[in-house]
Amino acid sequence: MSKILTQLSTNHALKCFSSIVVFPQKISSKFKQINISPRFKLTAVIVVVSPVSLFITTLAVLHLLPGSVAYSYDKSFNCITAPTLFPEFIKSGTVSSFKSFSTKDVTLLGYPLYSHSTCFAAKAPVNEKHSEKVNFSYFGNSFLKKSVTLQTDLFPVLSYAHIKKGPLSTKDPIEFKLSTNDQTFSYQLESEEKTAKCENKNQSLFCDVSPLEFKQSENYNIKLSRFFNDKNVNQIFESVITTVAPVEIVSTSIGNGSTVLDKPSSLTLELNKKAVSVDEVVLVQIGDVETNIPVSSEITDQGIKIIFEEELAREAAFKMTVDSITAEDKGFLPNPYTLEFTTSGGPKVNSVNIGTYGISQSQSFIVSFDQTLKDADYNSLVDVRLGAQSIPALVTAKNNQLTIKPKENLPFCASFSININGNIENPHGVSRSVKWSYNSRTICHTISIIGYSVLGRAIYAYRFGNGPSKVIFVGGTHGTEGNTKWLLDSWINELEAKAPNISATRTIIVIPNVNPDGYASGTRTNANNIDLNRNFPANNWKSGVKMPTGEYLENGGGVQALSEPESSALASFILSENPRMVLTYHSQASLVVANESGDSISAANTYGSSSNYTSLTNSQLGSTFDYDTTGAFEDWLHDKYDIPALLVELATTTSNEFNRNKNAMWAMVNLP
Ligand SMILES: [Zn+2]
Repeated sequence: MSKILTQLSTNHALKCFSSIVVFPQKISSKFKQINISPRFKLTAVIVVVSPVSLFITTLAVLHLLPGSVAYSYDKSFNCITAPTLFPEFIKSGTVSSFKSFSTKDVTLLGYPLYSHSTCFAAKAPVNEKHSEKVNFSYFGNSFLKKSVTLQTDLFPVLSYAHIKKGPLSTKDPIEFKLSTNDQTFSYQLESEEKTAKCENKNQSLFCDVSPLEFKQSENYNIKLSRFFNDKNVNQIFESVITTVAPVEIVSTSIGNGSTVLDKPSSLTLELNKKAVSVDEVVLVQIGDVETNIPVSSEITDQGIKIIFEEELAREAAFKMTVDSITAEDKGFLPNPYTLEFTTSGGPKVNSVNIGTYGISQSQSFIVSFDQTLKDADYNSLVDVRLGAQSIPALVTAKNNQLTIKPKENLPFCASFSININGNIENPHGVSRSVKWSYNSRTICHTISIIGYSVLGRAIYAYRFGNGPSKVIFVGGTHGTEGNTKWLLDSWINELEAKAPNISATRTIIVIPNVNPDGYASGTRTNANNIDLNRNFPANNWKSGVKMPTGEYLENGGGVQALSEPESSALASFILSENPRMVLTYHSQASLVVANESGDSISAANTYGSSSNYTSLTNSQLGSTFDYDTTGAFEDWLHDKYDIPALLVELATTTSNEFNRNKNAMWAMVNLP
């Protein structure tokens, strides 16, 4: 009893109770008035019983007083003072939104005897500004029924002012502020059909966005909804948010995949935003065994500086990885960053500006290195040699090149070598011991002009060797047979490349383009419309000729033999050289025709078997061509001088057929 009173007096219901304490006195005096002496015994019993009944009555009255509760969302349950004996017997009436329960303030062996308060908790989503009467009574009877009216207010309101402006981190929770704390509802964030629960404390919602799987630098539509248990009560916020941009490495002091020529002591990564942390920076030297290079890192205004704690090995490959970088705005590296580089050795020769033959006697040699050279005097490191003889040369260095200029012209058709031998440094002090040697040969042919065309074009002769026995190759007699010129151009290069193979007893002369006007204009004849190969004073020369087209040219063979500057120049040249063998090239009939002088027939057979062109004699040729072949060059050589000559007809007019002819041509060079 005293315990109950103590408890009662400790809460706000005390006032209510105090106002009723007068009431038992009134009841007791009423009893006294009613029950004077005849029923004294009964009265006495009542008087004895009255303190208990008085208390029970009081409780009953207290219990029956209707109550009201201003429902607070901030509490998980709301209570009202409702002194109740044997609360177990109290049954709630039909209640839609709230469940009620009694507190267990006095118990006997765990059985509740007395409850001081009745509490209410929402059991369904309640509405705003809603009033609901809850009835309950002993055993569910309407007798001794108590009514409590629950009144809800507006739901807790989201405070928009507190929502963070600007791009959001994809990792940090999104925080919302509520007008009051809320223990009635739960909150959930939704984006792209993914949901995230929000923790609700201290008037704030902390929504862990990790289940939403936000990516950086994206826009997302997010919705915040209020839930009661699993039921969506209402959506209270919707907005498009932008996530922060990822950390990007904008540039690096050492390029990815680059070769480092200097001796760097650090590597800087320039970022798109200010970093606040960097983790797991690892530098390894790649190789059969990976070696960790100790590094430290520091955050700078522009990015991150990675300091190498020891000097990097040269001609080695390195790989650096940075696992994570976090920026001030919580943006981060989406993936670990990897950068690979190699360190160079000292300068190494890359190339030289000359080939291995045909070099001008006054040529300067430029040797290029893979990197810039230290500004130094290289004269003592470079040696140009003709056999054992050292040739004085001036050596200058610029950028990555050494220019080597012999002080005097080199000899004709001479083998020489360029030698670099010594320690060469780059401007950063990285050096290499260079032992480099290059063999080449100066030009082995001379060029002369044997005459000029009608239109003044020079007719060139290329001369290799200086032996007394001469073999002359002639091409381009007909301007429409340009592939004969191309063949002889290739042949000139072949002879230059293999000049040492030419016998000392032999001279090779190549006249690749006898008819330069015809070649330039694409005509068979020269600029005077004369077929040069009908203009030589062979026994059968005549002026009027039938052309391969069937056309008859009145003066196609010239008004007289050797009337043309081209044929005249060629004839004079041939006679002055007195060759051992002459070859002229035409196209296209796939033939080798001997002019039947000297060993021309066996030479034609040799040529034919090597080139797979059909070998014939002039006599065998007979009337193969259904046009005039009078005044031909080879016939002139045969008729007037008995100089062996071959007419080679290539198989096409489009290809130089060099590979097909090469061995046969060498066979002619090597004729006895
Ligand atoms: Zn021809």
